[in-house]
Amino acid sequence: MVRPFITRFAPSPTGPLHLGHAYATKVAYELACKSNGKMILRIDDIDHTRCQEKFIQPIFTDLEWLGFTWHGSKNVNNSAAPRQSNRHSFYQEAFATLKDLDLLYPCYLSRRELNKLLSAPHTPLSELSHTQQLKKHITNTDQLLAQDEKERRRANGHCAAWRLRMESAIKLVQRDKSDQLSWFDYITGHQTADPKIFGDIVIARADIAVSYHLSVVVDDAIDGVTLVTRGKDLAPSTHVHRLLQALLNLPVPDYCHHPLLLDQSGNRLSKRNSSLSLSELRKMNANPLGIFAKMPPIPKLETL
Ligand code: GLU
Repeated sequence: MVRPFITRFAPSPTGPLHLGHAYATKVAYELACKSNGKMILRIDDIDHTRCQEKFIQPIFTDLEWLGFTWHGSKNVNNSAAPRQSNRHSFYQEAFATLKDLDLLYPCYLSRRELNKLLSAPHTPLSELSHTQQLKKHITNTDQLLAQDEKERRRANGHCAAWRLRMESAIKLVQRDKSDQLSWFDYITGHQTADPKIFGDIVIARADIAVSYHLSVVVDDAIDGVTLVTRGKDLAPSTHVHRLLQALLNLPVPDYCHHPLLLDQSGNRLSKRNSSLSLSELRKMNANPLGIFAKMPPIPKLETL
């Protein structure tokens, strides 16, 4: 019998929820219930350039319609879902810890400039596949811009993105912790973290002062999440999350990177390709039980 798990469903309100979200919630909900734990609902709205207020209320309505209940956070006995946009001070604290460790540096280059610098005379970085991009990882962008140009940009109020000195961060963790960085995934088993393939990742974006990676590890720690369930498209990010957890001394959850639902042409459902939204299905009086009947089974943790 597995221990009581605290899981979470953490949608970003960038569009209406679709069937893929229904499945992701079901995984988080059932694994929590089966272990006498609880599922937390968190609104991942840190990216104000993509998230919209109008998509938040329908998240609650859709999940209620599907029969899910949720908790607010580890020590909160109500269902008020925490929002990342209320947690800036926690992210700033984590940012300051990394900065004090001398692991961050400002990068004044735009994504477009970086692409140009790194691609010439080859294919632009944005046109490479994800894996190819990872292979071509970015290190020390500090050296790519002349000092006087950096100063000119700073003086002109140009906001910098802050990058992690990946090599130094790995060295620091290796020095302090004797065992290798790893995590346990209930579907794929023990995994060794290899964050260096990400290069000097952005820890705080210039426009939102934080990043997905930093916010998510801080949030999962605040919420006391012990089992992170999410789609397997996010599994590569766990290499970075494990490094950040080690640097910030955060607890390490287990993981369950579940399969993604695909449409009839084999493409993953997404908010962008007008997959049938849960709101639409609700308005059409679809039967939630029928919706779940066609989905893959929920991973059985006890058998692993
Ligand atoms: N908020 C992210 C999303 O909607 C999920 C974050 C996570 O599960 O780590 O894709």
